[in-house]
Amino acid sequence: MTDAAPPDASEATPASPAPHAEVHPFQAEVAELLHLMVHSVYSETDVFLRELISNASDACDRLRYEAIARPELLADDPDLKIRITPDKAAGTLTVADNGVGMDRQELIDNLGTIARSGTRAFIARLAEAKDGGGLIGQFGVGFYAAFMVADRIEVTSRRAGADEAFVWRSTGSAGFEVEPAGAHAAALPRGTEIVLHLKEDARKYLEPWEIERVVHAYSDHIQFPIMLAVPAG
Ligand code: ADP
Ligand code: MG
Repeated sequence: MTDAAPPDASEATPASPAPHAEVHPFQAEVAELLHLMVHSVYSETDVFLRELISNASDACDRLRYEAIARPELLADDPDLKIRITPDKAAGTLTVADNGVGMDRQELIDNLGTIARSGTRAFIARLAEAKDGGGLIGQFGVGFYAAFMVADRIEVTSRRAGADEAFVWRSTGSAGFEVEPAGAHAAALPRGTEIVLHLKEDARKYLEPWEIERVVHAYSDHIQFPIMLAVPAG
């Protein structure tokens, strides 16, 4: 009788931490939108940066609001800011903020689904438009616009006040993975870091003047400092 499973075994199993990354499918609307983004020939690629900066700014706003009731959330790092880091050697562009961050479930919900009304109709119109026809800029594809310029994205995030950080990663097709951030978590005491592995034809976004041009064109109204980390040499 020693090999019989105890009656509560089925409840105990899911509670133990998964040894590997969990794989999640995208919601159908997101999968469709991503398919269009990944295979895009759109001329409106600049807007990806506007969307990421806007999200970073929202995250800083939300933390500032939460910190009214819980000042300790801000205490050890009170200067809310957004940092953009191009890395030519790695071919990556990183957009980071020290805002409110996301926990594991928020990463899954916020970067795997799209709740906005009109999304279906938008996707149908976008699928017909050759170069986007201004649709991407008007509708605001949000985070997913980053897949116009990146073929792989890693989002590391730590919710303000949380002990753990998590990483979300995807190539824009076949879903996404979420797992504890591991050693990299130490580099992110709070907030969100988005690493875009740029497509070959989007490498212009590694040039500081190009980043500055796009930031000035679309994000001049942002009320938090936007720092451009320019590598030495
Ligand atoms: P929207 O900003 O219109 O809600 P997005 O696709 O741009 O849509 O972002 C989806 C959600 O993901 C946001 O509402 C937010 O909850 C979350 N999110 C995205 N980027 C960040 C970030 N840098 N920090 C915290 N949460 C974020
Ligand atoms: Mg947004």
